[in-house]
Amino acid sequence: MKAAVFHKPGDISYDTVDDPRIEDPRDVILKVTSTAICGSDLHILSGGVPQTSDMIMGHEFMGIVEEVGSAITNLKKGDRVVVPFPIACGHCFFCNHGASPSCENSNYKHYGPNGDMMDQKGAALFGYTDLYGGYSGGQAEYVRVPYADISPRIVPDNMTDEQVLFLTDIFPTGWSAIDWAQLKGGEVVAIFGSGPVGLMAQKAAWINGASRVIAIDPLNYRLEKARAVNNVDTLNPDEVDVVEAIREMTGGRGADVCVDAVGFEPERTLLDKAKALVNFEVGSMKVLDMAFKAVRRSGTVTIMGVYGSTYDNFPMHRMFDKGLTIRQGQAPVLNYIDHLIDLVKEEKVVLDDIISHTLPLSEVAKGYEMFDKKEDDCVKVVLKPWE
Ligand code: NAD
Ligand code: ZN
Ligand code: ZN
Repeated sequence: MKAAVFHKPGDISYDTVDDPRIEDPRDVILKVTSTAICGSDLHILSGGVPQTSDMIMGHEFMGIVEEVGSAITNLKKGDRVVVPFPIACGHCFFCNHGASPSCENSNYKHYGPNGDMMDQKGAALFGYTDLYGGYSGGQAEYVRVPYADISPRIVPDNMTDEQVLFLTDIFPTGWSAIDWAQLKGGEVVAIFGSGPVGLMAQKAAWINGASRVIAIDPLNYRLEKARAVNNVDTLNPDEVDVVEAIREMTGGRGADVCVDAVGFEPERTLLDKAKALVNFEVGSMKVLDMAFKAVRRSGTVTIMGVYGSTYDNFPMHRMFDKGLTIRQGQAPVLNYIDHLIDLVKEEKVVLDDIISHTLPLSEVAKGYEMFDKKEDDCVKVVLKPWE
């Protein structure tokens, strides 16, 4: 079959690879009809999340069941499903505690950033490096879905792929950012990053009762998108002092909730690495610094952005003094997906309005390039393996 294969940082190509096959009675093989490129994939592309061997990319995908393992009774050939990005067994301690991204039975290859084994197993994702289980991803014609009795969800026939595709990852991720902050209604929510995850967090903030949603991003075209599809206020950190502006907008108090939907940028030079160790001058530590300053006392900061290294000078004193609640991690998609499918079905939310480009999978390298470099007003790229 054909697939998008990561070879080394900066090198993803459209290759011929072996077809996946059923390896366990709980597997299904899915014929992928649509798949998307995620900001998380850019961390692999840049080398920030390391992978040393060839790997099929992609954790945001949906498609049609092609073949089912002998233990599968919930799905049959021909069913059209979306697949949550974390791979989880559904029965272990963590799965039973709503923490499917910490499943004990899905990742047998958990290596730490320095190649050491992490202290515990956990977090397996499709197409997300050996660190996350070494599974092949769904930017391909076909993909093997483990534990398919647990996670895939059948989607309504009358909805397009585009309407439901983002239930795999970015809508539940944006939803987690807001759910973890437990809004009561009337909150001011400031969302740093207005890429796909930020845009989804903006939608989730409105649905959960925010009275004001503020999007922050240095890219004006993404702020325009945010205003157009989500009717939010916007701030560009290259043009205004974001912390001051948020304080002004909140009577000096600060936002009730700040969300990091940016994530880390790899330190590309030795000087950057040195700076990252001692202060906030590089990459997205700037964002966390702004978020901790812009949030009100006893407010909440949720960090959906992915971080790949250790940082010194974390603002422990500010966090303590303000009495902040901090939440972060991979989105527990399974906790939310049924509710979120209902929201889409009931037309309480529209997800496909963030798509800027649809390309055949054969043009995957171009898709990554545009999304990474933020060219051609790129916001979200959907890839079609069969078109
Ligand atoms: P993206 O790269 O398209 O979006 C990031 C946005 O942040 C960009 O629009 C960029 O301009 C903006 N940005 C950069 N510097 C900024 C600054 N100083 N202030 C404000 N904004 C700034 O990626 P995405 O797909 O939206 O993903 C965002 C993050 O979420 C990534 O780190 C990704 O890995 C992570 N993610 C996490 C989960 C999870 O489960 N926790 C799931 C999906 C994605
Ligand atoms: Zn993703
Ligand atoms: Zn489990």
